[in-house]
Amino acid sequence: MTNIDPVNAVLNQAPPLENFNRYLGNRPLRDALVREGAGWAHEELIERGAELGSAEWIRRGELANANPPRLRTLDPDGRPADRFEFHPAWHECLAWLKLHGITGAAWAQPRPGTHVRRAALFQMFAEVECGSLCPATMTHAAVPVLTRDFALVEPWVRLAQTPRHDPRFMPAAKKRGVLIGMGVTERQGGSDVRANVSRAEAVSDGWYRLTGHKWFMSATMSDAFLVTAQTGRGVSCFLLPRFGPDGSLNALHIRGAKDKLGDRSNATAEVVFDGALAHLVGEEERGVATVMEVASHTRLDCANGSAGLMRAALSHALHHAHHRSAFGKPLLAQPLMQNVLADMAVEVEGHIAFCLAVAGCIDRRQTSPEAGILARLLVPVLKYWVCGRTPVLVAEAMQVLGGNGYVEDGPMPRLFRQSPLNSIWEGAGNIMCLDVLRALQRDPACRELLLDVLGRVRGIHAGYDRHLDALSGALAPPAGGEADARRLAGRIALAMEAALLLAADSPAGDALCASRLADGWTAFGTLPRTTDFAAILDRADPEQADED
Ligand SMILES: Cc1cc2nc3c(=O)[nH]c(=O)nc-3n(C[C@H](O)[C@H](O)[C@H](O)COP(=O)(O)OP(=O)(O)OC[C@H]3O[C@@H](n4cnc5c(N)ncnc54)[C@H](O)[C@@H]3O)c2cc1C
Repeated sequence: MTNIDPVNAVLNQAPPLENFNRYLGNRPLRDALVREGAGWAHEELIERGAELGSAEWIRRGELANANPPRLRTLDPDGRPADRFEFHPAWHECLAWLKLHGITGAAWAQPRPGTHVRRAALFQMFAEVECGSLCPATMTHAAVPVLTRDFALVEPWVRLAQTPRHDPRFMPAAKKRGVLIGMGVTERQGGSDVRANVSRAEAVSDGWYRLTGHKWFMSATMSDAFLVTAQTGRGVSCFLLPRFGPDGSLNALHIRGAKDKLGDRSNATAEVVFDGALAHLVGEEERGVATVMEVASHTRLDCANGSAGLMRAALSHALHHAHHRSAFGKPLLAQPLMQNVLADMAVEVEGHIAFCLAVAGCIDRRQTSPEAGILARLLVPVLKYWVCGRTPVLVAEAMQVLGGNGYVEDGPMPRLFRQSPLNSIWEGAGNIMCLDVLRALQRDPACRELLLDVLGRVRGIHAGYDRHLDALSGALAPPAGGEADARRLAGRIALAMEAALLLAADSPAGDALCASRLADGWTAFGTLPRTTDFAAILDRADPEQADED
């Protein structure tokens, strides 16, 4: 010890977590991928996992966020510009997302497991960069509703699905790829879309002129936006392109950029429509139903994004605990730290399994009406639960890194700032839980199907069986009032996660039942001491590289 330079020696600091495989290192994701029918994507995901774990991609995610988009309201000659300028790293992110089919290609490939593969890629990308996932999910989610409208298929559906990112600001017909954003929220209310005050007046052949505003509109560099406005008959949905049919700049003006807590790579703006041309999407007056269909897909991606964020936070915590010692032993060898880390790993494994199971329902919807009914119920449950749990888990992971976790030089502050967002946009937590009640009330088959799925693992864990009995009672019609909606949605989420992990025979299944389904579970690090910590931590180790 005496020979150590006390000023310059760098001791006991973890090296950066980089150049690892985000897929091979994520055993819960790999197992869920196979369970949900996308095992065929294994080899491809090994490649994507290596790319996204590389130092180069980690740096790209950092750059996109350290250099947020700049609003340009006027061109140098004084003409309206109304656009944001982005760092090249942002465009590289979008190019990757386009290339790998995250922006709508899944709808054109009805192979079983397509949406499961996409969900796995979405989660892995969220570990690197989240802002660019916003236009990716909105473009993906817009495709099914645009596909049904003959006037919009060309060029919008085709260019949404192409593997090319084309950042040029020009009419869509001349481009190689497009992105589609969404503008629903107005000053007076986002959850209550029927309160929209923006107006639409018919011009001809499905085209309308829109006058009004949107209080939040993200991915503002997109080529078109799905927006809502009132016609004389009610709220309707429109596709508003940046350039009108004659190729001139459309009357969409950016009033200001939101200064956000996180999501810094992405541009979110306040915008005004000053007689902007837009094409009706779906039926007039059915705008809320149309945007809800779009939202059902973006909500699943909110959960995927949050699962990825949590996985990233857990990976950093595990890596740090592996390399850092205190009181003569690595943190990872300290029994209480093992409990904290294993408890986080159990939670993340449950969320990954739940996300991929719901993506599997989306895949199976075409051939199984039951899968569609289950997805209708489970998407809001999933979004409420997984997104809501994210800030608390990321904060716990930050604590594992000690003071380094709180410092902007490291990865945790960005994860932490991003962590609450998915629980707000695309419908905040209460709205999700009220939607769960709506799904149960509208289609009584939901309850039977859910209980059937959950009943398949009865008899494995006594705590699970008790939870299922209680849930079954709580779901009996009428399934609770609004005041109980969060309680009900949380119980469904935990039952789903427990059922999936028990069915998979994961060591995390027992631990989830013994903690979250037991009375009095409150905090991370309180798993029973009989838990198989080593097995749980092994599955979560981001630096494992075995291919089998
Ligand atoms: C960074 C960022 C980017 C965004 N990008 C977009 C975008 O691109 N496009 C877009 O359209 N919007 C966007 N939004 C807006 C977002 O979707 C809304 O903020 C969100 O839907 C909530 O709407 P609100 O802010 O008007 O809150 P409100 O609708 O006023 O809701 C406030 C709170 O009240 C709760 N609440 C509402 N009704 C009830 C009820 N009946 N019972 C119990 N609780 C209730 C909600 O759950 C919420 O917690 C973005 C928001 C953020 C933060």
